[in-house]
Amino acid sequence: MTTAPHGLATVELTKSFGGVRAVDRASVSFHHGKINALIGPNGSGKTTFFNCVTGMIKPDSGTVTYRERDITGRPPHRIARAGIGRSFQLCRVFPRMTVLDNVLVGVRRNRLRDLIAGARQPDEVEKARELLVRVGIDHLENAEAGNLSYGQQKLLELAGVLMGDPETIMLDEPAGGVNPALIGRIGTLIRELNAEGRTFLVVEHNMDMVMSLSDHVVVFDRGRPIAEGPPSVVRADPRVLEAYLGI
Ligand code: ADP
Repeated sequence: MTTAPHGLATVELTKSFGGVRAVDRASVSFHHGKINALIGPNGSGKTTFFNCVTGMIKPDSGTVTYRERDITGRPPHRIARAGIGRSFQLCRVFPRMTVLDNVLVGVRRNRLRDLIAGARQPDEVEKARELLVRVGIDHLENAEAGNLSYGQQKLLELAGVLMGDPETIMLDEPAGGVNPALIGRIGTLIRELNAEGRTFLVVEHNMDMVMSLSDHVVVFDRGRPIAEGPPSVVRADPRVLEAYLGI
């Protein structure tokens, strides 16, 4: 797949909280069809940027475009419908529901009512089971999600995101708090899903994972990109060292 300019992009995106400019005129183009990483020190605005892009919060100004469509400030379900799925830094699963039902809820939270009423669509159940096999937790189908390890919950959340069949997947710290064996599995899954044509945008602190997995890295500092490029270039950029080390 070639790097097309028509993927996810922002122009001068800005969001303040009181006097803090969490995202500060950030203009970023992600590489469509690739694995993109967004890195930066704590407080550099990565999560706020993610939330603005996925409609969880409205930016103060600037634009977000996807596939040449303006999606700025659209509500999350509209952005999901445009083809962008996301996970959350602190996993969002329903702890008292079974693993299978969590996947069935997927991105369509409005299905929750049907599930509570005991109604399951057979084709959706089949798809959910396939996805549980895919992420490697099908043996836990009937377990309560709250009893899964944190890493398994991340895999469950990914299966839920895949229920919506998104073309672009945004993951907020997929390796955070996860044991090394499961980090390896999550990395392999991201690679496989990318090879099938899905674009990734991953916020991650685990530098080994970022450097081994990504095609393109964007580095944030104080709410805006300060460097970008392939991992080998970004890693050697003095501005990046300065941002991380504060020298
Ligand atoms: P990162 O994800 O890179 O750690 P964040 O986007 O979480 O960065 O935060 C960027 C800045 O915005 C920080 O200074 C943070 O304290 C501030 N911030 C983020 N969310 C809020 C909020 N809801 N209310 C007030 N300040 C916030």
